[in-house]
Amino acid sequence: MINRQDSTAATHAQQDTATAPSGFREVLLSPGDCSGCGACTELAPDIVGWREGDERPFLVSDVAPDGVLTELMAFCPEGCFEDGNAS
Ligand code: SF4
Repeated sequence: MINRQDSTAATHAQQDTATAPSGFREVLLSPGDCSGCGACTELAPDIVGWREGDERPFLVSDVAPDGVLTELMAFCPEGCFEDGNAS
C-alpha cells in the first residue's frame, strides 16, 4: 500500500516537471546569437535576468505566461527564445 502511494506520487512529480502549468509555457533560451541588446530583460525581468559583467542573459524562470513568451519570441531580434511546449 505504501509503495503504491509512493509510486503514484513519483508519477505526479515527473508530470509536474515535464509540463508547464495551464496558461504558462516552458521557456527555452539559446543565447548563441545574442547581440546583448537587453530587450528581454527590460520586457520580462521576472523571467530573464542579467548578471553584471555578463555578456548574455540567463533565465530566472523556465516557465512564463503564454503572452510573455510570445512577446519575448517576437521582440528578441536574434530569435534566442523558443516555446518548449511547441512540437
Ligand atoms: S532580446 Fe535576444 S538578443 Fe537581446 S539580449 Fe535578449 S536574448 Fe539577447
